[in-house]
Amino acid sequence: MTIAADLHLHSTASDGVLSPSAVMRRVAAAGLRAASLTDHDSMEGTEEAHQEAERLGLNFISGIELSAGDGRREIHVLGYGLDPRHEALDAHRRRTYDVRRRRVLAMVERLRSLGHDIRLEQALDHVGDGMPGRPHVARAMVDAGIVPDVAEAFRSFLAEGGAAFIPKPVFHVHEAIALIRSAGGVAVLAHPGQHFTDHEIAALSRAGLGGIEVRHPSHSSELESYYRRVAERFGLIATGGSDYHGAREGDEHALGQYGVEMGVMERLAARVKQHSSLRKPTCHAS
Ligand code: AMP
Ligand code: ZN
Ligand code: FE
Ligand code: FE
Repeated sequence: MTIAADLHLHSTASDGVLSPSAVMRRVAAAGLRAASLTDHDSMEGTEEAHQEAERLGLNFISGIELSAGDGRREIHVLGYGLDPRHEALDAHRRRTYDVRRRRVLAMVERLRSLGHDIRLEQALDHVGDGMPGRPHVARAMVDAGIVPDVAEAFRSFLAEGGAAFIPKPVFHVHEAIALIRSAGGVAVLAHPGQHFTDHEIAALSRAGLGGIEVRHPSHSSELESYYRRVAERFGLIATGGSDYHGAREGDEHALGQYGVEMGVMERLAARVKQHSSLRKPTCHAS
């Protein structure tokens, strides 16, 4: 398999450290031919990334990564080919922004109550125009000298169950799939890891899931083969990407290693087209 497209990338529009256009330049420099920017709960970087991708001669498909859950655990859902100006999607972004910003505030407060000298502005500096999240708090903790690096911030404080961990309320995975589809996109289960049985995948398929992210840095080759077989069995598109954030150890190495062959871009585009032809003529496709 020749990896030609990276379908999982983050920028400053959520919690990555490079701008959307800089991410596209890194992708092109890694020798890839296609990409999707999949920021958390936001498509604010889409236009910039798309323009830069065109300039670089990269094939581009719009994307997003929604945080959702099933009441027991957090589940991420990738969306591809959606309309970045879709009203319900933007309303979701605004709501999520408020919730996530308050959560960053609460995490900083928690750290302060634990006796650590960190200011809210330090965290908000890292948020910038992004979607507030734990990585921003982690980077502020490094600035404040509380931890030597981001990995240690997660290990000692911010990972689930950690002293400064605050859960974020997320909507149901079925709603996430429905939102992606209403915006004209294909919904893909992100980095499923160890967690998903055939039975659960079947239920998600019935809810409108169109794909599974099989190739991801967190998946062993056994897990990747397992999910490839699952995708095949359920007629789901097998996708992949590096989950690049531009700051984590291994990020640069991951570019060009995690992704999909060009044919997957075509399958996604075909599925998007199929959706748009099923929608009412009032929801015109571009
Ligand atoms: P949040 O959406 O605020 O809960 O933060 C989740 C994000 O934190 C993920 O998308 C990753 O970007 C990042 N993250 C999670 N665990 C770690 C870790 N151990 N080290 C570095 N980044 C992490
Ligand atoms: Zn992230
Ligand atoms: Fe994720
Ligand atoms: Fe991600």
